[in-house]
Amino acid sequence: MIADVVREDLPWQHLLTYLEACVRVYNQFGRRDNKFKARIKILVKALGIDEFRRRVDEEWAHLKDGPQTLNQAAVDAAKGHFPEPDRRPVAENATEVFDQLRAENRSFARFVTNNVTDHKVPGYKAVTLSLKRREHAPGDVTADQMEAVADLADRYSFGEVRVTHEQNLVLSDVPVDELEALWQELESLGMANPTVGTLNDIICCPGGDYCSLANAVSIPIAQALQERFEDLDFLYDLGPLDLNISGCMNACGHHHVGHIGILGVDKKGEEFYQISIGGNSTDDASLGKILGPSFFRSDVPDVVEKVLEVYVAQRHEDERFLDTYRRIGLKPFKERVYA
Ligand code: SF4
Repeated sequence: MIADVVREDLPWQHLLTYLEACVRVYNQFGRRDNKFKARIKILVKALGIDEFRRRVDEEWAHLKDGPQTLNQAAVDAAKGHFPEPDRRPVAENATEVFDQLRAENRSFARFVTNNVTDHKVPGYKAVTLSLKRREHAPGDVTADQMEAVADLADRYSFGEVRVTHEQNLVLSDVPVDELEALWQELESLGMANPTVGTLNDIICCPGGDYCSLANAVSIPIAQALQERFEDLDFLYDLGPLDLNISGCMNACGHHHVGHIGILGVDKKGEEFYQISIGGNSTDDASLGKILGPSFFRSDVPDVVEKVLEVYVAQRHEDERFLDTYRRIGLKPFKERVYA
């Protein structure tokens, strides 16, 4: 289910007490007795958001303005744990030089377009290190590579590396005039794959290769798809596309919010895959809709290809996959896949 808004415009001073009230309501009325129903979302669904909100407000009346109320000193103390890095000023002509390098080197330009994000501080960029290589499980990195990344972080980004839920790494503070040198080093490490945000940037849970809860394997599906759809021009033509894979309903691979979602299911001890489309995890979140009966493992790349064919045939100029799906609905995809 998609989350409901329980409270708009809560003043920051009351954040902790209000959240505590939410948890108290869950502790009091939620299904902690049943491990399959021990989720706050189950309680919200059972009560409805209005009743849940009413009970929270009732509980909050006992906590509001109490000792857990935040003040500026507490916020400042927390902020003190996240100091801004000591950024050096970049050369005045750094951006010009950077633009020129992009113009001269197509590979670097592709990397910048897909893996580099603007920064709030002029002269700096955030760089995504792709952990999506066909020969490895999505998100996997070797100990040697991680040592190398730590070294790169020290030299290029104030010793800080972030891990994203898309299973990549981010160096968050890279000066523009060092981007090209960083890209060269990432190339030699195999972490400069310029496919961030494309179909190839698959989120994939460990699935049946590692997880005892799995209904089916996930990693070989990701690898088969990466092999089928590896042409960069094709990927760029498709534009932004999230493909997420989970090996069971626990949804660690977030399949239900992938533009294309793949879920491993078990049918009488055999592995099958259910495919959904139209999920989205950004502000206008939506859950994917299931195309129909599930598929054999070997059919999955063909099914995804058919889904993409419908998109390419039906899209308006510059229309994203998700927007095309929202405009035309599930039917054309279903008709093509099950024809
Ligand atoms: S989604 Fe299921 S199979 Fe995949 S890691 Fe989570 S529990 Fe395991």
